[in-house]
Amino acid sequence: MSKYVYFFGSGKAEGRADMKDLLGGKGANLAEMTNIGLPVPAGFTITTEVCTYYYGHDHSYPPELKAEVADAMRRTEAAMGAKFGDPKNPLLVSCRSGARVSMPGMMDTVLNIGLNESTLRGLIDKTGNERFAWDSYRRFVQMYGDVVLGLKPQSKNEIDPFEQIMEELKHSKGVKLDTELTTDDLKELVRRFKKAVKERTGKDFPEDAYDQMWGAIGAVFGSWMNDRAIVYRRQYGIPHDWGTAANICSMVFGNMGDDSCTGVAFTRDPATGEKVFYGEYLINAQGEDVVAGIRTPKKIAELQKDMPPVYKQLDEIRNILEKHYRDVQDIEFTVQKGKLWMLQTRNGKRTGFAAVRFAVDMVQEGLIKKEEALSASRIPPDDLNQLLQPLFDPEAKRRAIAAGQLLAKGINAGPGAATGRIKFHAEDAEAWVHKHGRGNPDARVILVRRETSPEDIRGMQAADGILTAFGGASSHAALVSRQMGKVCIVGCGALNIDYAKGTVAVADKVLRDGDWISIDGFTGEVLAGQVATKPSEVVQVLIDKTLKPDQSRVYQQFAQLMKWADEARKLRVRTNADKPKEAADAVAFGAEGIGLCRTEHMFFEGNRIDAMREMILATNVEARKKALEKLLPYQRGDFEGIFKAMQGRPVTIRTLDPPLHEFLPHAADQQRELSAKIGVPVDVIARRVQELHEANPMLGHRGCRLGIVYPEITEMQCRAIFEAACNVQKAGTKVEPEIMIPLVGFLPELKAQAKIVHDVAKEVFAAKRVTVPYLVGTMIELPRACVVADQIAQEAQFFSFGTNDLTQTTLGMSRDDYGSFIRYYMEHDIVSRDPFQTIDADGVGGLMRMGVEKGRSTRSDLKVGICGEHGGDPDTVKFCHKIGLNYVSCSPFRVPIARLAAVQAALAK
Ligand code: ADP
Ligand code: MG
Ligand code: MG
Repeated sequence: MSKYVYFFGSGKAEGRADMKDLLGGKGANLAEMTNIGLPVPAGFTITTEVCTYYYGHDHSYPPELKAEVADAMRRTEAAMGAKFGDPKNPLLVSCRSGARVSMPGMMDTVLNIGLNESTLRGLIDKTGNERFAWDSYRRFVQMYGDVVLGLKPQSKNEIDPFEQIMEELKHSKGVKLDTELTTDDLKELVRRFKKAVKERTGKDFPEDAYDQMWGAIGAVFGSWMNDRAIVYRRQYGIPHDWGTAANICSMVFGNMGDDSCTGVAFTRDPATGEKVFYGEYLINAQGEDVVAGIRTPKKIAELQKDMPPVYKQLDEIRNILEKHYRDVQDIEFTVQKGKLWMLQTRNGKRTGFAAVRFAVDMVQEGLIKKEEALSASRIPPDDLNQLLQPLFDPEAKRRAIAAGQLLAKGINAGPGAATGRIKFHAEDAEAWVHKHGRGNPDARVILVRRETSPEDIRGMQAADGILTAFGGASSHAALVSRQMGKVCIVGCGALNIDYAKGTVAVADKVLRDGDWISIDGFTGEVLAGQVATKPSEVVQVLIDKTLKPDQSRVYQQFAQLMKWADEARKLRVRTNADKPKEAADAVAFGAEGIGLCRTEHMFFEGNRIDAMREMILATNVEARKKALEKLLPYQRGDFEGIFKAMQGRPVTIRTLDPPLHEFLPHAADQQRELSAKIGVPVDVIARRVQELHEANPMLGHRGCRLGIVYPEITEMQCRAIFEAACNVQKAGTKVEPEIMIPLVGFLPELKAQAKIVHDVAKEVFAAKRVTVPYLVGTMIELPRACVVADQIAQEAQFFSFGTNDLTQTTLGMSRDDYGSFIRYYMEHDIVSRDPFQTIDADGVGGLMRMGVEKGRSTRSDLKVGICGEHGGDPDTVKFCHKIGLNYVSCSPFRVPIARLAAVQAALAK
């Protein structure tokens, strides 16, 4: 038989803190606080199973519920020495929602249940405080009317009838604060409130205490399915079928005069992490008054003067709770005539900065073990981002918004804050930064575009931030910005960009090329003008080297946490990097190798693009080889730089991957310019561009298919790699290249490419008179490759899952086009996550699992990694740990996040 109701009171509770699934967080913690002897007003919790039943049975309750509630109410009455609905000695209760995880402000609570014309008299007699009783009554009618009877406005345009009545009365009385209203005013309020209820609902306000209570219970369960709550759950991945509990809790009153108050507090500062008592309270107030901002509350420290014994007790409870829960608590309390009551406790939500500080401090205080400090519930890996990204000075941003500088909001794709001058073209951005010199505050640029493409890379590199009108969280702009650690907002549809005029407009506000703009990649906010920023301390220490480690506590704690993470994780973490600087930054962030070095970006710099284009335009092998020869020294130089930066760590280099047309100019004037430069007639260029055009380039002539048809390209790239490797090794630095062949689906493809790699290696080693250890492997990014992974592993010495393409080809969704419907899919619960951000574990993940198993069935020591964008996503990292990968690879700024996610995966049971 199910038990639906759990009592707490008089120092003993039927529930416990570990019963959150059944009792919800609030109910479980009220029970726990009762059991450890803290002053909690008696009450009971109706379980989440009742909520599930309610939705499964046409909004009705299990038949046993009534009797269980009646029994629990008797015990509550005994504990509090008062009787619910009794006219002489009335007990009042609150009805409070509470799901497994807290959903602040999403669901409803009703206070002062049990008040009616007759219990009101009893309350007045009992307390001798008429004003307080009427204040409680008017609050009750208002809350009950809003929440249970549905008078609360559903949209911003509607007005709350109760608030309106309240405003009218205050106005006519010439007072500002609720506390200034007289008892007669409060009586008048109740009368008008009830009249409004009658007018709106056609019914009288319910008088019977039990009717009131059941109405409130129904409203609490009903609030689980309100729009706000549904949207919140979707955003935070909370299942809709969990349900909420309903807590009936004896009322205690913070509105009984100047010896009473209500407050909320954190046991430590949740913004900075500092170990100080942090909170606020309001004298002579009830419930949400503090949060609602009706009156300005006082800082918790002042309670020391206002109510010294209460402050002392509360400070003791602060310690007891931290020791007991071994984490920072967010508490709610009320003081009734000098007596303290605890109404709620839960683990406090915190910023990334506070999360790291709490964790490290608590280990050093001996409160928790290192393993606990690293857990995902204490530090969600993504929150580390906050420690790496530049920030807007909060005060400066507040002032800017107050001054009307907020323009629009887009998708926050790259966290951080950036201010710079608007440049609409990559070349302009680059030229501007070059002219003014990086580091000069005036050189800062925000690249503002409809969208970005590979040709914009250098402009993006030059810019401090990137802002696009189109594209989603895995558009080119977003992807590249994250790789570069740039602040980025995409899909900001309100922006009207006119390249020809050089303007960006939002409604009637127009900004021009060169104007200042500021973007907050944490929130997606776009502001006109400058807002002051500063680089994060961690970056100042590790990357800029402008701050010494011992000058930054934030850095020291970050480093301490990362050290603990590295001690316990199994999964290695590499980085995706194409440039020595990027590689060096990644190493500073803890990267243990390069998991993906793309070679195509290398062809865009300076004169290289001309040689590349010459190669593509060549009509025979000889001409192609001649052009490739020009590229060889450039590539060799690039690889030397990267090998040096990596100091002996493994470097996975992918041979040329994108379709060739991406390198050719498409506009007529650019084609003419190229023609003049390389001496190929313009119509030949135009024809070649035409020839290379593909209806669906993603599935066209790209990946290893290029190296198969044009083996001389692979040959040149391998020569560059091995010559660089030999040179660097000769100069005394160990090198460990891993050559990766992209988009393999058939074993013969890999065999043909691997043969070229080995042949070139042999030749170069002979010529240079050294050998360098190296591996040949493949990127697994086609479903076919997963299915025949056992065959491919005959040749491949390693696999690396290219999950961007594997997701595209498995789901049949193009990552450039899925933006138009994926949001709809998520809002309608067809998919719960964006499959290009977090691996689709059942589908794409199933293929990966198969690939690992089949691959290792052929070659038991097969090294397997992942190098798609997913590699920096914490949930994907955890999945990769589970299926036995050796490493993940991600952009430099995500390396610390992946290290933390990896240790969390290793420590999870
Ligand atoms: P939320 O989940 O939104 O925080 P709560 O159920 O905690 O909602 O209720 C909001 C506030 O109402 C509490 O912080 C507390 O101040 C007040 N409250 C709730 N129940 C009681 C009670 N039994 N006695 C006094 N105040 C209460
Ligand atoms: Mg609360
Ligand atoms: Mg690919």
